[in-house]
Amino acid sequence: MDKQFPFKSSIHKIQAPAKLNIRLKVIGRRPDGYHELVSIMVPVALFDTLELERLPKKQINLACQGLSVPDDGENLVYRAAQAFFARTGIGGGVSIKLTKNIPVAAGLGGGSSDAASTLTCLNELWSSPLDCEDLCELASGLGADIAFFLLAKPSIARGIGEVLEPIEKWPTFWYVIVTPPLQVSTAWAYANLKLELTKGEYNFILKRLKKEPIQVGHILENDLESVTAIHFPVIKSIKTLLLDAGAVGALMSGSGPSVFGVFESRENALRAKKSLAPHIVGDIFLALGLS
Ligand code: ATP
Repeated sequence: MDKQFPFKSSIHKIQAPAKLNIRLKVIGRRPDGYHELVSIMVPVALFDTLELERLPKKQINLACQGLSVPDDGENLVYRAAQAFFARTGIGGGVSIKLTKNIPVAAGLGGGSSDAASTLTCLNELWSSPLDCEDLCELASGLGADIAFFLLAKPSIARGIGEVLEPIEKWPTFWYVIVTPPLQVSTAWAYANLKLELTKGEYNFILKRLKKEPIQVGHILENDLESVTAIHFPVIKSIKTLLLDAGAVGALMSGSGPSVFGVFESRENALRAKKSLAPHIVGDIFLALGLS
């Protein structure tokens, strides 16, 4: 028989943030083909929005608006909902409206964030049948970055991204994010990576994070940048533009192609965003880091 849960408000709205990889180092390759990494990830205030409504019947309806993404079983939102119902044994269903603002396949983790928000929201709508550990396990089974978005706090990520350690004192920076009109597959970037595995990476990060104040310029590094930047020289041009516009550092996020500049004040970030606009290198976003 289907499990019964007490009634809770049946509509829920949630914002799913994007992420930036402040550092991404590949430290190994597992027998199953996944790469082991050490990364610093931060959530930023660039959001997709999801609206979820409980349905009495066992069905999942998904409607997408905004940037184009699949609205069927290919969508991570759909797969997250399927996984939630399968795991909990709940007999009901859900109608989900996804408004997509985070550029797709752009290194900003939008799909993973949507999936995490779906899991969190469904769990709340049905009065928390899953605890944090269950949610984390479910998330990791769906995709490497999804567990990060359950907490959505600046974190060191290890393993394939599912071993997370929040960084309590990560400074609140402003980020100017530039997304050129290209889509980069994460699988393609890893397949083209020339493996020169980094050693002692975790200790390097711990040491850097102990410094007061944290010098972000010394931390920024992404092993996947060389792969994507060789194929898409615009990555390097955007970095140069951001640095010339006063960023304390600039880096490609994830497997790209989004590139971000780090700024210590909104004023400086806004000035840089304005100075980049005439160069028409892609979509430009100004986003506060979330903590
Ligand atoms: P990551 O770095 O985690 O791979 P990304 O930002 O590079 O993330 P996403 O925007 O999450 O990439 O999308 C990657 C792929 O997932 C795309 O090819 C897209 O079609 C598919 N996808 C499935 N569901 C979603 C979703 N809800 N939002 C965005 N993409 C989705």
